[in-house]
Amino acid sequence: MINKLQQVRAFIGNTPLVQLDYDRLEIFAKLEYHNLMNSIKVRPAYHILKAAIKKGEITPSTTVVESSSGNFGIALAALCRQLQIKFVPVIDPNINNAYEDILRALSYRVEKVTERDRTGGYLLNRLQKVRELLQGIPDSYWPNQYENPLNYESHYFGVGSEIAHHFEVLDYAFIGVSTGGTIAGISHRLKEKFPKIKIVAVDLVGSVIFGGPPKKRHIPGIGASMVPKQIERALIDDVVMVKEIDAIDGCHRLFEEHGVFAGGSSGSCYHAIHHYFSEMDLVERPKVVFLCPDGGTAYVNTVYNADWVAQLRQEEHVTS
Ligand code: PMP
Repeated sequence: MINKLQQVRAFIGNTPLVQLDYDRLEIFAKLEYHNLMNSIKVRPAYHILKAAIKKGEITPSTTVVESSSGNFGIALAALCRQLQIKFVPVIDPNINNAYEDILRALSYRVEKVTERDRTGGYLLNRLQKVRELLQGIPDSYWPNQYENPLNYESHYFGVGSEIAHHFEVLDYAFIGVSTGGTIAGISHRLKEKFPKIKIVAVDLVGSVIFGGPPKKRHIPGIGASMVPKQIERALIDDVVMVKEIDAIDGCHRLFEEHGVFAGGSSGSCYHAIHHYFSEMDLVERPKVVFLCPDGGTAYVNTVYNADWVAQLRQEEHVTS
């Protein structure tokens, strides 16, 4: 099975790191949508499946079950196809239509949780559904991206190392958070090489990860309705909370000003960078890196759709 998995190894990692034209800062974007299945999440998916196969926890008769907002699910679906084993993702209504279509095409079966949990999100109910499925399906395996230390490890050795190797000096890294695996892995790797670097976590208003009150959110991939375990391992210096409408604005600016067509968490980071440095007196141009964990194609019916954005603006106006 390992051999089958390794056939796609060449399509994972070594993603472009590009400098954006910007006056006050040296900004670099790590374009993770150049990975297999167009997102960063294939890195942990590959690492976790490989370890489980090695340990004998995954065999040809295994069914993989996971809660995913999309990207991790799509990565797992593709790798499970490669391995010719069954995959059952547990999704919720926040998922992009395009992602749902891909998951339905590639998975053995899709489970959709439609009731919001007590925080206003879906995550707690999705996890409950995963536990039920694991009990019902014999020989099932749960990668458990929220708690699996291999999620953290894949980013430490993967994207974290790639960024570290690229720079002699690096001052800031802005990283969107959901399971916390990315920021935990990258922060450890970057602080080893650049002890003075500031790691800035970026989250959406309405996510509870950094103690804010829960609120309905619409952009998948970033934020969570529980505090993920892996966030404890992350070395975080600052947190920027971004409103969804500003995250969308960040996406549009990334595309219009730099030709980077990216997803909601990328726009959140780009907006956070503007906000963070806007009031700061800068003597030198700091070197700032941020991630673009996925591309914009899956967001054409939401973030890049004028009617959808107008409706969100209306909702924000009513509730604020
Ligand atoms: N951005 C996107 C688009 C994602 O899919 C994810 C993973 N859910 C993240 C950011 C955050 O990564 P992590 O779960 O490792 O915190």
